[in-house]
Amino acid sequence: MGDFEDPPLGSYVRIELLRYKAKGVWLLLGALMCAGIYGKLVPALISALLQAVGMLQLPNSLYLTLVVMISHDFCYILHCLMLRGVTFMGWSEQYRCNPTAEWPWTADKALVSRTYTTLLFNFFVLIPVAIYLGLSSGSFDFPGGSIIPPLWEIIRQILFCMCAEDVWSFTFHRINHYRLPYRYIHKKHHEYKTSIGMTAEYAHPCEYLITNVAAAAVGPVMLGTRMQMVTFLTWLCYRIGDTVDQHGAYEFPWSPFSILPFASKG
Ligand SMILES: [Zn+2]
Repeated sequence: MGDFEDPPLGSYVRIELLRYKAKGVWLLLGALMCAGIYGKLVPALISALLQAVGMLQLPNSLYLTLVVMISHDFCYILHCLMLRGVTFMGWSEQYRCNPTAEWPWTADKALVSRTYTTLLFNFFVLIPVAIYLGLSSGSFDFPGGSIIPPLWEIIRQILFCMCAEDVWSFTFHRINHYRLPYRYIHKKHHEYKTSIGMTAEYAHPCEYLITNVAAAAVGPVMLGTRMQMVTFLTWLCYRIGDTVDQHGAYEFPWSPFSILPFASKG
């Protein structure tokens, strides 16, 4: 799976039409869930987290590292556990993308163990490194503390971050599929025959920093001090949920992710 031909644009449009047809009226529920969870619930939880960690009176670098790691790790683990829980429920089989494929935790236990090790390294070593780099370059400076910005500002800035993330990750994912980057870097991300949610951040350290982390950071860095801390962390939580959902083995029509056109599963 190295070099590849881009499919014609028309096939993307056809896929999108089929995707929306499959969602049907569930699309409305997904959109409402998305607005409720990421417009109201998550900003309120983030605000409470910022207040709690703020009471520790830590230096700024440690404060930012802690709130990013708690938000990121909690969202990632929660979404992976929810998807793992769904595998035990018979009704979910009809929504599996590839119902005949064997689950990786029975087909390749060594790969699943390697995934846990990689995720731990990425979460607890590379994320603090990325925050340190962002702080030292002056890119991370989010004002507002625990204040929740107006809903329209949250939606508008998250939409901007989604577009910036899409352009960045498409570009670097495309580059990663050329022969040499694929062989030495990106192949690791494609070791799974059946993708599951937790493979979203199973990647080589270079890919993790340049593609995963930088793609999520490019929008906030461009917005600079116009983006408040609560919006930044809400965007991070949305992005984690979205990428775990995209890499997951299911296509639920009511999913609060992949609502917009051309946001289909990766
Ligand atoms: Zn790829």
